Amino acid sequence: ISPSSPEYLDRLNPEQREAIETTEGPLLILAGAGTGKTRVLTTRFAHILLEGRARPYQILAVTFTNKAAREMRERVGALLGETAEGLWLGTFHALCARMLRRHAEYVGLTTGFTILDTDDQIRLTRQIMEPYRLDTKRWPPQALLGIFQRWKDRGLTPEQVTAAEDTDFAGGQARKLYAAYQDRLKAVNACDFGDLMLHTLEILRTQPDVLAQYHRLFRYILVDEYQDTNTIQYLWLRLLAKRDHGPSNIACVGDDDQSIYSWRGAEIENILRFEKDFPGAKVVRLERNYRSTAQILAAASGLIAHNSGRLGKTLRPGRDDAQGEKVQIISVWDSDEEARLTAGAIERLRSDGHPLSQIAILMRAGFQTRPFEERFLTLGLPYRVVGGLRFYERAEIRDAMAYMRVLAQPADDLAFERIINVPKRGVGAAGLQKLHHEARLINAPLSAGVSHALETGQVKGKGREALAGLMEAFERARATRESEGHVVATEQLLEESGYLQMWRDDKTPEAPGRLDNIKELLRAIGDFGTLEGFLEHVALVTETEDQASADTVSLMTLHGAKGLEFDTVFLPGWEEGVFPSQRSLDEGGLKSLEEERRLAYVGITRARKRAVILHAARRRIYANWQDSMPSRFIDEIPAETVEHSGQAMQERRQLAAQNASLFATGPVSSTRAGGMAGPRPGYSGGYTRPTPRVTDVLPDASHGIGPGAHVFHQKFGYGTVLAVESDRLHINFEKAGEKRIMAHFVEQVS
Ligand code: ATP
Ligand code: MG
Repeated sequence: ISPSSPEYLDRLNPEQREAIETTEGPLLILAGAGTGKTRVLTTRFAHILLEGRARPYQILAVTFTNKAAREMRERVGALLGETAEGLWLGTFHALCARMLRRHAEYVGLTTGFTILDTDDQIRLTRQIMEPYRLDTKRWPPQALLGIFQRWKDRGLTPEQVTAAEDTDFAGGQARKLYAAYQDRLKAVNACDFGDLMLHTLEILRTQPDVLAQYHRLFRYILVDEYQDTNTIQYLWLRLLAKRDHGPSNIACVGDDDQSIYSWRGAEIENILRFEKDFPGAKVVRLERNYRSTAQILAAASGLIAHNSGRLGKTLRPGRDDAQGEKVQIISVWDSDEEARLTAGAIERLRSDGHPLSQIAILMRAGFQTRPFEERFLTLGLPYRVVGGLRFYERAEIRDAMAYMRVLAQPADDLAFERIINVPKRGVGAAGLQKLHHEARLINAPLSAGVSHALETGQVKGKGREALAGLMEAFERARATRESEGHVVATEQLLEESGYLQMWRDDKTPEAPGRLDNIKELLRAIGDFGTLEGFLEHVALVTETEDQASADTVSLMTLHGAKGLEFDTVFLPGWEEGVFPSQRSLDEGGLKSLEEERRLAYVGITRARKRAVILHAARRRIYANWQDSMPSRFIDEIPAETVEHSGQAMQERRQLAAQNASLFATGPVSSTRAGGMAGPRPGYSGGYTRPTPRVTDVLPDASHGIGPGAHVFHQKFGYGTVLAVESDRLHINFEKAGEKRIMAHFVEQVS
């Protein structure tokens, strides 16, 4: 008999407890941001174990990121007072990879199959397109891969794609190419990321014994972020949850307002379908938000209320501390000021004792990180780009890993192709083709083809010695691996193959850094028992992967921030065309705009104490400056929950008013590209009394432009600077006459 109120349930509210204690039967927990959904799932995991209802490996728990999986593993471990081994806890892909390794033979693979990275996928796609003689400019391999991925997201194998579903890629040839691509993958014992799910689903569908085995194994299923599951994930879950004998003990938590992956095939309908799929499902709603202050919550709730067709959820502040600070909205001149101001605010927070790890800058798009990175580097502020150009994406790491892949699996043709001529071994495109041909003749992988060609004396000249050296290096490394382990073997291979020497001989400034990266890689392999274990880990590291929890500011995309929380969140680039994105505006549909709004909601609700929204008066798009309008989402946040500051909008309005006569179309134009755009109607921030708080930094006095400089202004054209007056320039324009203009508004031309 379990104690009536164990300690770990004490601090939970009644609805949360209900969601945890209802262990049997299907359960849907539908609740807004920060209401403790993830916490409920974690506690439920521990509760099931503590009540003795299942062994740790009998619970299947699906998280959205590897980071979330790690956190859940830690939390469960803390609640249990021990670390549980052998858990089926991870992302859909990680769980499927594990299943697929066990049953690979059912889909024509062997257990040592490789998981391809994007480079490999593209190279492979190019190869299968070759016989079709398609113009790859017109029909880029990337686009074709995108089509394959969308089919895979829907759980469709090549045989299941009907003619009607074929696209107009290369005149309706995508379906054929898909089959060829899948065949080729199997031939090299590899699969891509989407295949992890596709193959596993196929096995569960076609092998009743395997499915029954998992039905017996998994007594409980837990799913986080259910609103973002796509069709194939849904089908996989449903197969595993619907057991012939016994109830479906599946618990899913989700929030329709945080569905932000429809572009990746996520189907919000999966939530709506839950009660139909699992008759008698219980639905629990959580309403108290324990994460954010009342102000932040009111701001986010007011914003998301502009979406239609919501399931409708109440959110009440659960924290009983004060209201908290208002959401700050700051107008800046451009992205440089945006970065400067943000960095300044972060430095002040830091000197007040706030840990940097509790600060995040969340962007709509990856390109936005650059000015922030530059500013942080200048100031020496530690930061990391979560999900940016990650360690494992760097060329030298990819190369080194390709060597490791061939070491682990000689049949990995794609990896072998990557390194056969790196460093240069005199193998050109034609030579490579000959070697491929050789391999096909003896029906063996490329590396065996090379050995054969060497033995039969078909490789001549300089290449012969170099290739023979490479093959010997691999052989010696395999022997070393047996005797001294995978770390020593890898290092030896990189040395004897000449790869490390290639970088030592390289005199470019990046070369030393690359060697350091490789050293770091060798350190990382040491953390894994086997080479295969390490390679699998890397293949599964997702976009939002996160290294140690060092004290650094996090820069990441809004998509990557899902499920996370920080004390302070900066949200830059809230401008029409950036956020909402230009693409969503061009599409014009309500659907894409609403998804952008959900993304904004996700952004604000990441903040515990402080949310700062920034928008710039202009932004450089390629070579041109473009005036930008504040995001409509700013207007949609209830006025009483925000506080405006910053000078850019105020100055711009004054300027626009001063020069109203210059505008042919009367008052301020409000189109995006319409030059001196004024504030949107209803945009009534209190610019006249800026109350800077975390961020009282003024724009630069001038941009280093002095008297006599020749300048250009978007509306007034060319002119000459007469004088510099604090932050303004007194300019004599060729057409418009004398004006006083903020330095930020002009470009120096000579
Ligand atoms: P999201 O929708 O963003 O994923 P969530 O619903 O999963 O949010 P959690 O991350 O589980 O929410 O919880 C938000 C915060 O509130 C966490 O810091 C969590 O520890 C805290 N929390 C949850 N429930 C309670 C509670 N009953 N008492 C105090 N704090 C709580
Ligand atoms: Mg969560």
